[in-house]
Amino acid sequence: MYDLLVKNGKIVTPDCIYEADIAVDDGVFAAFLAKGTDVEANEVIDAKGNYVFPGIIDCHAHLNEPGFEYREDFETGSRAAVSAGCTCLIDMPLNNDPSLMNKEVFDLKMGKISKHSAVDFALWGGIVGDYDDKPDSVKNNMNDLIDLHNCGVAAFKGFTCPNGNLFPTVSMGNVRKALEILKPYNALCGFHCEEYGQVLEREKEAKAKEGRTNQEKIRDFLDSHDVWTEYVATKNVIDMARATGGRVHICHVSHPMVAQVVKDAIYEGLPITAETCPHYLGFTEDFVFEKGAPAKCTPPMRKKEDMDKLWDYVLDGTLSCIGSDHSPAADEEKDNATKDIWHAWGGLNSIQFFLPMMFDMVVHQRKLSPSLIAKVMDYNPAKVFGLYGRKGAFEIGFDGDIVIVDPEKAWKCKQEELLTKGHVSCFDGMEGKGAPVCTIIRGKVVAEDGLYKDEAIGYGEFITPVK
Ligand SMILES: [Zn+2]
Repeated sequence: MYDLLVKNGKIVTPDCIYEADIAVDDGVFAAFLAKGTDVEANEVIDAKGNYVFPGIIDCHAHLNEPGFEYREDFETGSRAAVSAGCTCLIDMPLNNDPSLMNKEVFDLKMGKISKHSAVDFALWGGIVGDYDDKPDSVKNNMNDLIDLHNCGVAAFKGFTCPNGNLFPTVSMGNVRKALEILKPYNALCGFHCEEYGQVLEREKEAKAKEGRTNQEKIRDFLDSHDVWTEYVATKNVIDMARATGGRVHICHVSHPMVAQVVKDAIYEGLPITAETCPHYLGFTEDFVFEKGAPAKCTPPMRKKEDMDKLWDYVLDGTLSCIGSDHSPAADEEKDNATKDIWHAWGGLNSIQFFLPMMFDMVVHQRKLSPSLIAKVMDYNPAKVFGLYGRKGAFEIGFDGDIVIVDPEKAWKCKQEELLTKGHVSCFDGMEGKGAPVCTIIRGKVVAEDGLYKDEAIGYGEFITPVK
C-alpha cells in the first residue's frame, strides 16, 4: 500500500515524455509503474491528459524576510509559489535587513521563515564587499563565508553594481577573494552583473537632464543599463573564475552578447553556469515603455531581436537554468502616478506566473517540447545548486515533488487575484495556456487548481545541498 499514486499522466523528463504511474511513500518516490499497474494507495490522483513534472525549482526568488515584510514575507511569497507549481525555491539574501551575510543572521532568518513557508526552500548566502559607502556594520563578510557555507546555503550571491538594498556592492577584489575562500568547498558564487562605474556614470548623466517626459526618462533608464554594463561585469567576473578556479554562476542573463561570453567560457572549460528569466525571453523594451514603473528591473528587458536570439542560448544549454527573479514591492513603490522610472522599485512581481508563463512560451508560442521545462526548471537547477539527490528528477528515493500541468488550461494574470503581498504586476492582463492543477511536495498536496491549501503554510522545509 503506497501513500500516494499519481496515475495516467504524461511523465516529463529532460529527455523524453512517457506514460507511467508514480507511487510515493514516506514522502519520496517509491516506484515508477507501467500505466495501469494494479497497486493500492491511500490517495489516488488521476492525471489523465496532463503533463507530470518533478516539481518546479525557482533558483532565483526574493522573499524579503526578515526586514522588508511589507513587500513580501515567506508566507505570502511561498503560497503564490506553490499555487503556481513551484515545489522548491532558492531565496536571495539581499532584500533583507539584515542581509544574510553571517551565521548570526542565518539563525535569525531561519527562526522566522521556517515557521510559515509553504514551499521547500534553500538559501543563497550573501557576499558583501566594501566597494561603496554602506555602513561598516554591513560591509565585507569574507571572514564569514565558510561559516555561512557550513550553515548549508546552496550558493552565494554578490552584486557588482549599486542596488536598492542595504547590500554592499562587491569589487572585483571582493569577487576574487570570495572565490578563493570558497573554492576548496566547491561552493557556487552567483553574481548580478552590471558594471558599477558605467551604471553610476550613465545614471548620473541621465538624471541630470532637465525637462524629460516619462517616456524619455524610460529611454534614459534603459540606456544607463545597456548591454555594455552587463557585458563588462560578466567578463570581469568570468576572469576572476579563470584566475581562481572558483565556481561562478551568472544571474539573469538578459542579452545574447552576454550569453555568448558565457558560452565561450564554458567552451574554454571554466566552471561557469548561467540563468535567464521569463521576462527576458518574452518581453522587450517596448513593454517597459508601455507599462512604466511596474516593468522596471535590472538588467532591463532588451530589444526584440535580442530576445529572440537569447532563446538560442537556452536551447544550446548555455543558459541552463531559468529563475523567476521575483522581486516584489509595495504597491506604492510601483505606482506610475507617483513614481517615475528612476524612483520606482526595480524588480518584478512574477512568481505566480513563473511556470504558466514559461509553459505558454515554450509549448504554445515556440512549439517546443515540455521536456525543455523539465530541463531548465527542474533537472539543471537541481544539479547546479546541489539539490540533485533530493530534487529535480523522477528518481527512486528523491522527494515526492510533483506538479501536474493541464496543457490547455487558460489563465489570465489579474492583479487583484495575486497571492503575493503586493498587487502591482507588469503582467496584469496577460493571458496564456497551460497551468498547474495540482502541486505536491514530499507526497502532500499543497495546492490545487492554482490555489494553495491552508495546511501548506509551515509545511515547507529547509533544503541543503546534497553532499
Ligand atoms: Zn534577483
